[in-house]
Amino acid sequence: MKIKIIWMYHTLMDLYGDKGNIEVLKTRCQKRGIDCIVDTCAIGEDKNIDDYDLFFLGGGADKEQNMIFSDLIQRKESILEAMNHNTAFLLICGGYQLFGQYYKDQDGNIVDGLGFFDYYTESSDRDHRCIGDIAVETTMDGDTFQVVGFENHGGQTKDVNQPFARVLKGHGNIYKGEYEGFMNDTVLATYMHGPLLPKNPMVADKIILRALNKRHKVDSLESINDDLENKAREVMLKRLLK
Ligand code: GLN
Repeated sequence: MKIKIIWMYHTLMDLYGDKGNIEVLKTRCQKRGIDCIVDTCAIGEDKNIDDYDLFFLGGGADKEQNMIFSDLIQRKESILEAMNHNTAFLLICGGYQLFGQYYKDQDGNIVDGLGFFDYYTESSDRDHRCIGDIAVETTMDGDTFQVVGFENHGGQTKDVNQPFARVLKGHGNIYKGEYEGFMNDTVLATYMHGPLLPKNPMVADKIILRALNKRHKVDSLESINDDLENKAREVMLKRLLK
């Protein structure tokens, strides 16, 4: 079996170790004998998004979001085609924001989003920036578990009709908010950097399963040893939820 990942704007949209997510996907596939091919896509590069099983877009500061958004919007048809064919999507922070209606920065400048979902994002003032470690609880593809990460965003994302998770500690979509991220059957969009997947192997495996299921029918993955990952997670959960 094989999965093909398209890693969008990898030199620009990579904050707080988002690239670690790619390493984890590769390693977890490798351990199970699943071929994992990672391709990158830069501004102006001709790529058919539907050729891939997983679309990964990391976070970026306002500057990088401004640099990539017009290129992203030109790919709207190609991305929509991939979405309609059950491609898995993992979107972090700035990437999450760009799949909504728009992002309005602190100076009032508007960066258009792809408009696939109803949510929109407007920047808070400096005193209400959402920064720090975060713990949430999600029910993802039938399983309920806690997830740990790190967030750092001014953007306050509103009108999210299907959040990824309920906030246990931290902010999430808005300052001192109740919910975090957006999720449907194929798209996981979250403010959780950290990076997300090394600290949360169960999320990594759900993403791999989603990607595999674009072309194969796979119900579960061979289990692998996650003792170290789980220990690291437990330390964070204990610290945050004490
Ligand atoms: N510029 C966006 C914000 O501050 C996204 C930041 C990020 O990707 N961490 O809301």
